Parts: sequence; C-alpha cells; structure tokens
Amino acid sequence: MQVQEIPHVAILPTPGMGHLIPIVELAKRLASHHNFLVTLLIPTDGSPIKPQKAALQALPNAISSIFLPPVSVDDLPEDVVIETRISLTLTRSLPALRDSFRVLAESTRLVALVVDLFGTDAFDVAKEFGVPSYLFYTTTAMDLSLIFYLPELDETYSCEYRHLSEPVKLPGCVPIHGTVLEDPFQDRKSEAYKGILQMAKQYLLAAGIMVNSFLDLQPGCFKALMEGKEGWQPVYPVGPLVQSGSDHGVDDSECLRWLDKQPNNSVLFVSFGSGGTLSCEQLHELALGLEMSGQRFVWVVRSPHEKAANATYFSVQSIKDPFPFLPGGFLERTKGLGLVVPSWAPQVQILKHASTGGFLSHCGWNSTLESIVHGVPLIAWPLYAEQRMNSVLLADDLKVALRVKVNEKGLVERKDIANYARGVIEGEEGKLLKSKMKELKNAAERALSEDGSSAKSLAEVAQIWKSTDKD
Ligand code: UDP
Repeated sequence: MQVQEIPHVAILPTPGMGHLIPIVELAKRLASHHNFLVTLLIPTDGSPIKPQKAALQALPNAISSIFLPPVSVDDLPEDVVIETRISLTLTRSLPALRDSFRVLAESTRLVALVVDLFGTDAFDVAKEFGVPSYLFYTTTAMDLSLIFYLPELDETYSCEYRHLSEPVKLPGCVPIHGTVLEDPFQDRKSEAYKGILQMAKQYLLAAGIMVNSFLDLQPGCFKALMEGKEGWQPVYPVGPLVQSGSDHGVDDSECLRWLDKQPNNSVLFVSFGSGGTLSCEQLHELALGLEMSGQRFVWVVRSPHEKAANATYFSVQSIKDPFPFLPGGFLERTKGLGLVVPSWAPQVQILKHASTGGFLSHCGWNSTLESIVHGVPLIAWPLYAEQRMNSVLLADDLKVALRVKVNEKGLVERKDIANYARGVIEGEEGKLLKSKMKELKNAAERALSEDGSSAKSLAEVAQIWKSTDKD
C-alpha cells in the first residue's frame, strides 16, 4: 500500500460535545499551523447527534472524521456517574478502534494518537502499532494536578475527602474543599473513584500532556506540573482552543436578531452547557429570579430532571418540551425582556455579541474559556463533573465570577438570582469582574499569538511528532 508522506495524527474524542468541540479546534490548529493530516476516530453509543454533525461540518480537507460503530451501554444503571458511562463507551469501542487504527497505521505516516482525559484505554492500541500516545486535557491544569496527585492524596488520607477539615492544597493551585471535588471523589469506595485512580496511573504512560488552558491563567499550577516529579510526563499548555462560532445545526437567526436590538452589555446569557438540567423547583426559582431582576436575558432551557444534573449529556436535546415546565405566565410577562431558547443556542455568537454583558454558566471548561476569550464576566453555577472546582478557580482565584450560594435544600433562591443578575449586568461588582475578564481576554490573545506561550508549546509538540517520523 502507498504510504502518505505527510505526518498524520489520529485523535480520539470520548463522548460529549465538551470533548468534541475543543478536539476539533486542536485538529484545525494542527492542520493549519503545522501541516498535519488529522483523522478523528469517534466512539458513540448511538447515531451522531445534530450538534456533533454540525461541529464536524465544513472542516478543512486535511481533517477527516470516522464514527466508530455505536456500542450499547443500556445495561448500566440509570444513576451511574457520567464518567463511568463515558469510559465504558470507549472500552466497548476498542475493537473497532483497533481496526480503524490499523488502516491508518498501514496507509499513512501515523506519528501520534491523541486522546482526551477519558481516553487512556486506547493507549494499548497505539502501542501495538508503535505509535506514541498523547493526552489532550480538555479542562483545567488544576484538575490535571488533582489526577497527578491523587495516588499521594489517596495514601495520605483515610477518610472521605469531603470530611477533611482543611481544604486540599494542590501545589500552585487555589485551595479546594473536599466537597467541591468531582462526584467520583465523593465516595472513595465507588468503582468510579477506583477508575480515576487507575486512570492516574495510565496518565504516566502518555508521551506528553497538552492542556486546553494557558500559562497566565493558572501560572502556579502549571509551574508545579511542568517542573513535575520523577516519572511525570511533559505538560504543554496549548489553549485556549475554543470554537470560533458555528451554528451547530440550529436556526440561530432569531436569537442573534433579538440580540441585535438590545443595548450593549445589557443581556445576561444563561446556559448550563450540553448536559445541564435543573430540578423542576430550581427551574421555577431561576425563571422567577430572572424575572425579578428586571434584566434582559437569553436562556437556553431544557425540561427538568429530578435525579441527574447532567441528564442530556449524551443527547443534548431537552427530554421533553421545556416550555410547559416554566412558571405560569412567565413567557408573557418577560416578553421583550427575555428570550427563551429550547435545548441549544449558538453560544459563541452570543458571547461574542456586543449586547451580551454577563454569562450565568455551569462553568464547563469550554464555556469558561469562551467567556474569557470574549471578555464576558460570569455567574458561576456549577452542576456536575469538575465544574465546582472551576467555579472556585473563577470566583476565588481569578475573581471574574460571582459564585451562587445554595440554601439548606440545595436550591439557589430567586432573590439571590435576581441580585447576581443585577450585580453582573449593572452593579459595581460587575464592573470589577469585567475589568479582570478584560485582562484575561488580553492574556488569552497573547498566549495564542505567534510568539505566545501556548503557540510555542504546541509548536514544540508538533516538532517532536515531525522528528519522530524521520526514521
Ligand atoms: N454549547 C453551545 N450551545 C449550547 C450549549 C453548549 O454551543 O446551547 C457549546 C459551548 O459553546 C461549549 C460546549 O458546547 O463549546 C459545552 O462545553 P462545556 O465544557 O462548557 O460544557 P459541557 O457541555 O461539557 O458540560
């Protein structure tokens, strides 16, 4: 078989738009700035969803994508943590991955496999074909640090982390209380926690780890990671790699046309990412809080779910029509002041829009980076995964967000929501957050500029891959 001359990289995104979107951006940068060919190998547990297809549309010719045959994870209990479902989708896709990988290895100059944070089980496949494996870490340096230090934490403490009286102090990072750690860390006897401990060992087998963040955003944390410990792999800050804006297959014109008619910096954008869902009671509080604030808003709403805060992580679509779940008369009373969009909105175009003045967000890392890149201050309302840690970073360390407070029933109350909305859009605190955000926006631009720290880091990785290919 004729082998191509151009170096080729295979990238494996595990399920979730929050993984696919930044991976597509990494692929674009590798193709446009470093002349690689890229193939995305995509495991899935069903037919591709509309936002997935849209994210893969109109890619440069240098990037191809292959959906691996869907696997079933229907045997998992309904309340299984999301991390387990993601990992299992990958494990069950490994035979198909091996077949596609073999074709690539035999027909191209395959120089690297890149996987995201849950993709380490694929390392063995790359090893079989003598190809080095790299990680693309789609969230923060602090979260990566938690994984690296996990074996040490696990040995040091015998109780649950949430029962520690002192916060956990990861080198160079803002201290975090055990209750803020991700769900699998809340029960050390769980399979999910054991899975992460296992993952921490696998991370040491990567040839290098790229992180979708940048030095000036998390300087202390990166310094500690990059100085490393014996056996740790090189860490490369390469972000922020964020989508520049596509419509992800929805008709966005109404939303953007509506924003065009609003004054500058006057609209609060409210969205909980691809998977975020609220309980019925919380949905009501949020609606009434937005109404009480008197502020303009665009709200991406999904039907409520009583058990899971990430009920739409795999499907993105609202499970039912969300409108009947809103408080009676809400839509009529807020007509003209707010716009409610079901399921999915063109987030980047909204954050980019001059009318948008604040973002009430679940603090998913892509949403966070997109807010930074467009200089929009945040109201941090974390729901699941590493979002609680991100909210501490944003509010306590970087001071670009107001962090929501929950009452003894676990609810964020309407009067507080109204205060946060007013605070961010028209309050003095909003001005402070905005000016801090502006600094981060500038730092993000610098990091990606030609001589910027992230551009140089990615160029270093690219150089290693190109020279690996020489023999
Ligand atoms: N997103 C979007 N429209 C929506 C919801 C989400 O375009 O209505 C995009 C958002 O811009 C981001 C990604 O989906 O790029 C969500 O990633 P994030 O890490 O913020 O959260 P996750 O969905 O993984 O919880």
